[in-house]
Amino acid sequence: AEKLLEIENLTAGFLTVGGTVKATEHVSLSLDKGQTVCLVGESGSGKSVTSLAIMRLIDFNGGAILEGSIKFQGEDLAKRSQDDMIRIRGNKIAMIFQDPMSSLNPVYTVGDQIAESIVLHQRKSKKEARKMAVDMLRLVGIPAPEIRARQYPHELSGGMCQRVVIAIALACDPVLLIADEPTTALDVTVQAQILDLLRSLQKELGMSILLITHDMGVAAEMADRIAVMYAGIIVEEGSVSEIFSHPSHPYTVGLLKSVPGLEGSRGDELYTIRGNIPGLSQLPVGCRFHPRCPYAKDICREKSPPSFTVGEEHQASCWMYMEDGGAAAWQQNESE
Ligand code: SF4
Ligand code: MG
Repeated sequence: AEKLLEIENLTAGFLTVGGTVKATEHVSLSLDKGQTVCLVGESGSGKSVTSLAIMRLIDFNGGAILEGSIKFQGEDLAKRSQDDMIRIRGNKIAMIFQDPMSSLNPVYTVGDQIAESIVLHQRKSKKEARKMAVDMLRLVGIPAPEIRARQYPHELSGGMCQRVVIAIALACDPVLLIADEPTTALDVTVQAQILDLLRSLQKELGMSILLITHDMGVAAEMADRIAVMYAGIIVEEGSVSEIFSHPSHPYTVGLLKSVPGLEGSRGDELYTIRGNIPGLSQLPVGCRFHPRCPYAKDICREKSPPSFTVGEEHQASCWMYMEDGGAAAWQQNESE
């Protein structure tokens, strides 16, 4: 398959009075054309920072890319100027966020906001753009689009507003859509509708999606591949079937247990992984998950684990999977 996005060894962070705080470290991730990759983890795991870094929006948040490359259609976004990025954002890459209201302007009608995006990105006349905006509203499943186009955001439900935001994002005909928790603020029924919409638009338009979510249930429905993030690093990566049939990192196993109704979960009694995600300025030495890991051993407290191959195109960063008999030694250790 054709690679669309290839992130290698990406480290990004924020410059504070106390020094540089790395929010995401040595992240490597790739996305094929037409594929959906889900970046999964608890809040504070560095998922959003990773997406802001890809878009180079991190520069406006007091942050910077410290290391690594972000190859998008062959060019390295980490090296582009902000002027280049303005052209790339909104033309080839679009982004949608959790709260649709934060992306919409309360004083313009939704039709005008979609039309504005069309005028900006597709060089159409205002009149043409207005007509296209109605078609876009229809495309994202809004009933009576001619009427809705003349309404203001506050006249629409949260779910409808998120559909409008998706329409604005699609108005620039992106090849990559980055969606950061796009359904988290919506109720369960509307969430399912928006996910359905994203899936069908993807089929129709052939775009790739990088979906950021804390919800393994959402990832199960949407992803071709899943990357699990914890405390700024990717701890496990694999196809959706690999991750769900052989979750390998103890953190992933914990995340899966906490999803009600999924196989291996504890039913409706919500399981939570003990402890909290560590603050970025006080990361534990060794494996970052060790204070919360039921399997932690001495080596976990001393050295951070590299990534081990645990299945076909499936990697996990956990000492349990050490090669050359490491696993056997591990089990021996465990029974001591
Ligand atoms: Fe747990 Fe050790 Fe694996 Fe980290 S490396 S997840 S502490 S077993
Ligand atoms: Mg976030």
